[in-house]
Amino acid sequence: MPRNALPALASTDYQLLLKQAVCTSEWRARMLAQTEALCRSGSIDIDLTNGRATLSVGMWELLGSVPPRTRPQSRKAVLQWLPADERQYVASTWRDAVPGEPFEFQHHIVRADGDRRVVLHRGMVEAGADGRPLRGAAILQDITAQREAKQGGERACFFKPPSNTSVARRLALESALRHAVERGELVLHYQPQIDLHSGTICGVEALLRWQHPSLGDVSPAEFIPLAEQSGLIVQIGEWVLRQACLQSVAWQRAGYVALRVTINLSARQLELPDLVQRIQAVLLQTGADPARLGVEVTESTLAADVTHAARTLSALRALGVKIGLDDFGTGYSNLSYLRTLPIDVIKVDRSFVHDVTAAPADVSVTRAVITMAHSLQMKVLAEGVETEGQLALLVANGCDQMQGYYFSAGVCAAEVEAMLRENRRLPERFIERQQRRRTLLIVDDEENIVAALKRLLRRDGYHIVTAYSAAEGLQRLTEVDVDVIVSDQRMPGMTGVEFLRRAKELYPDTVRMVLSGYTELQSITDAVNEGAIYKFLTKPWDDERVRAHIEEAFRQKEMADENRRLHREVQQANQELADVNQRLQRLLAAQREQMSLEEGRAASAREVLENLPAPIIGFDVEGLIAFVNRDAEALLPAGASLLGRDAEEALPAPLREVWRSDDGVSRTVDLAGRRFRAVCRVMNGNSRSHGRLLVITPQEATEPPLN
Ligand code: C2E
Ligand code: MG
Ligand code: MG
Repeated sequence: MPRNALPALASTDYQLLLKQAVCTSEWRARMLAQTEALCRSGSIDIDLTNGRATLSVGMWELLGSVPPRTRPQSRKAVLQWLPADERQYVASTWRDAVPGEPFEFQHHIVRADGDRRVVLHRGMVEAGADGRPLRGAAILQDITAQREAKQGGERACFFKPPSNTSVARRLALESALRHAVERGELVLHYQPQIDLHSGTICGVEALLRWQHPSLGDVSPAEFIPLAEQSGLIVQIGEWVLRQACLQSVAWQRAGYVALRVTINLSARQLELPDLVQRIQAVLLQTGADPARLGVEVTESTLAADVTHAARTLSALRALGVKIGLDDFGTGYSNLSYLRTLPIDVIKVDRSFVHDVTAAPADVSVTRAVITMAHSLQMKVLAEGVETEGQLALLVANGCDQMQGYYFSAGVCAAEVEAMLRENRRLPERFIERQQRRRTLLIVDDEENIVAALKRLLRRDGYHIVTAYSAAEGLQRLTEVDVDVIVSDQRMPGMTGVEFLRRAKELYPDTVRMVLSGYTELQSITDAVNEGAIYKFLTKPWDDERVRAHIEEAFRQKEMADENRRLHREVQQANQELADVNQRLQRLLAAQREQMSLEEGRAASAREVLENLPAPIIGFDVEGLIAFVNRDAEALLPAGASLLGRDAEEALPAPLREVWRSDDGVSRTVDLAGRRFRAVCRVMNGNSRSHGRLLVITPQEATEPPLN
């Protein structure tokens, strides 16, 4: 092959090159030899059927070894030159390779000595359709050479992955990340979560920040996936948990007892077989209350192994930890498995958080999620709330909690504490609906009608808001919390019925009425039937009747509000009851476990005493005989019948003396014509047993009597 063929290839798609590298062996040999020389790369040719691999000359050079006669190496030998922590990853990627598809090595560093970094890029498995053995190729590359090539300008970069600089950055980040914890470059920020019923901060989400001295602030969206892929997330996650627990303890001590601190759990962490024990250990070490800790997992995290995840999350929940499902709606959103998972809060992703300008269908989806979550006894938290319009819509649709820049971004712990101290909360208009003035929205394109209605209704004490078109009406709804809407039917742009339909979509709790001189019977009947309109009033109107209807509409609204409030309170009370029950169950289970442990210990102790080659008698605190071992039964004439009797009357006189003295001093006693030594001790050491223990041992013939 002529050398000048290379530049043409340089522009070829990287993946295509790989494909060709695998498929045409003659071409591969040519290409690899030349590009390896040019770009300091190397390749491994893997025979998947026998698990052996041949390393190219360039590869041996990259590895800093002299190439032996190129012959196939065993899988073990090939994996040998990888750093130990990458070995398992490469082996499993290799093993799971699918014919015809490239296998991504995610640009792992496989060797980094000094300034040189060698990266394993990608591989491709050849389809073995014609009966040939499956073959694969993997490409290794010295990215230092690429960097040099970039600086040098001219050198061809042959095996150029899609974004070379991002690969280099990833690698730099990954190795820097390995030291981030110990160098104190990680900090936690906390984003407040607001309860929409009270308007106050009910919790915070711990969000990791990495402040690198030269790379600057790195976004978690960039480094968390890296930490995941490299497995560093387990160590980092543990650090996050510990910090969050310590902070939680500090806030509890400062008197903010209801505040919950929530951390994000990654897929790798959730996979750990001993995650629950790890979390439990940190809770114990820091003294944090599990009931004030929350964890968030995403749908995609769960998807890997739902059964294992459900088991782990249930165990965490049993400790009192609250479980949140993060970014709901962005993953698989499989509602049927949602039902089977132990989830307390669904965090609706910000792509579902709409403003009033959104299409009604979008708003319906948000509402459906809220309704669905409530029916599964879960709470709903809306993420990424940035505007007042979004918040109003969420409140109107019964969302429970919110988090987002509208209230606050993630801030340092001291700032959270300042907010708590100042009792920062949402503006009153979003909450405490009961105490608000009754608010009426009048929409009519005829100004004189609006004015007349205003005059008529003002004396009823309503807070009246007006609009002269449907669009303006929708705008008012975003600004003011409206209870009752009265709209004209015939308006330019949008009819009253259409407007009220839309108002129903966006603000389902409002009570809506049409006031019209025209009776377009069909559309109005439809609107009434589908619940968009509560009442239809005709023009010209009878003052008193209109006043009565509007008064009734407000009563209707207040009754519905009250029902919703009660429903919420009942739900909350049920939840609290369930929590208390759960805690009681846990306590009972722990007590039961303790009891059975103690029973076990007592049984073993009893067995030991039973089998000791010396007569032993046990007494309870009342002085009743509670235990007589085999040797004691044989020694004493009354034997087993001693059990349950009073020591004072049941023991033979010499033993009674020893029992009474219970001073731990060994005394000589004569029993059944033989001489013994007997000692009585009170049991009150570290064990929970109380009472006394009398031990009798035969006195050796040679032993002189002590007393
Ligand atoms: P997340 O758990 O969904 O966290 C919410 C993200 O949305 C945060 O981004 C937050 O700053 C951002 N956010 C909050 N309010 C708003 C808003 O009103 N508008 C917009 N546009 N964004 C808002 P951040 O801090 O960059 O974190 C990104 C993701 O990184 C997190 O998404 C989470 O998945 C992950 N992450 C952060 N800290 C940790 C951690 O300690 N461990 C793990 N495993 N993942 C973490
Ligand atoms: Mg989160
Ligand atoms: Mg989220």
